[in-house]
Amino acid sequence: MKIYTVNDYIKDTFGEKLYKLSLNAGCTCPNRDGTAGVGGCIFCSTKGSGDFGGNADAPVSLQIKKEKLRIAGKTKCTKYIAYFQSFTNTYGEMDRLRSKFMEAADNPEIAAIDIATRPDCLGDEVMALLLEISAKKPLWVELGLQTIHEDTAKLINRCYTLDVYDAAIKKLKTIPAHIVVHMIIGLPYETKADMMATAKYISDSGADGIKFQLLHVLRGTKLAGMYESNAFEVLSLEEYTDILIDCIKQVRSDMVIHRITGDGPKSILIAPLWSADKKRTLNYIRQQIEKA
Ligand code: SF4
Repeated sequence: MKIYTVNDYIKDTFGEKLYKLSLNAGCTCPNRDGTAGVGGCIFCSTKGSGDFGGNADAPVSLQIKKEKLRIAGKTKCTKYIAYFQSFTNTYGEMDRLRSKFMEAADNPEIAAIDIATRPDCLGDEVMALLLEISAKKPLWVELGLQTIHEDTAKLINRCYTLDVYDAAIKKLKTIPAHIVVHMIIGLPYETKADMMATAKYISDSGADGIKFQLLHVLRGTKLAGMYESNAFEVLSLEEYTDILIDCIKQVRSDMVIHRITGDGPKSILIAPLWSADKKRTLNYIRQQIEKA
C-alpha cells in the first residue's frame, strides 16, 4: 500500500526536506487549569504531550539555535519547521503568543509554523492571529481529537465534544492552514471498528493530514494507575500495525500521513515497552504497510 507521507508532502510543497524543531511557547492547557477540565487528558504527561520540547523560558530564537545544535548530526537540512508542541499553544495571553510565533515566523531559516492546540481554543482573536501568521509563513495547525467516540472522550477526560471539533475544522477551513488531526490507536475499550470510524471521520471532516499515535502509558499519569490495576491491556506491535493499516485504508489517498506511531519518552514509559525500540518498530510497521 502506498501512503502519502509527510516527507512526500514537504518535498512537494517546499521542494526540499525540512526538519522539525520542537519549540515551547510556555503555554498551559485549559484542560489542566480548570477552564475546560482539571487533571488533563488521562494519558498526558506533566510536560503536556510535548516531552521533547524546548525550554519555555528561553526566547524563541535561542530555542531555535539550541534545537538546531541538538539535531545537527541527524540532518543536513537548512530550512526548518517551527513546531510549538507542548500543551495548548493558542491558550494564553495573545500579545505574548503573537510575539513568540512572529519571532519564529520572522526567522529566515523557518519555512513553516506548526501550532498544536485544542479545538476549543480557536476563538476570534486566535483565528485573527493564525491568519496573520499564515500571511508570513505557511501555517500548520494540529488538533488533538484522539477519538470520535464520546464515551471514550469522557473516559480520557478530553473535556470537549465532537461538535466542538466540527466547528474548529469549519473555522480553520476559512484561513490558509494545513490542518493535521491526531488520533490515538489503543485507547481503553475501543474496538478496531471504533478506531477505523475515527480515522474515516477525520478524513471526511476535511482535515489535510492525520497523525496516528500509539497509546503510551507514561509514569505519573492517571492512565498509568488504570493500567497498573489491570483495567485495560495495551496493544502488541502486531495488533497495533494491523489496526493502523485498516485505519489508513479509511482515509483519502491525498491525506498526508504525518505519523504512523509515536515515541513516548523512554524514562517514563511504562507500556508498551516494544515501542521503546523505535527503529525496530518503524521498520516493522513500514514493511507491513508496504505489503498491505
Ligand atoms: S489537551 Fe493536550 S496538553 Fe491538554 S491535557 Fe490533553 S493532551 Fe495534555
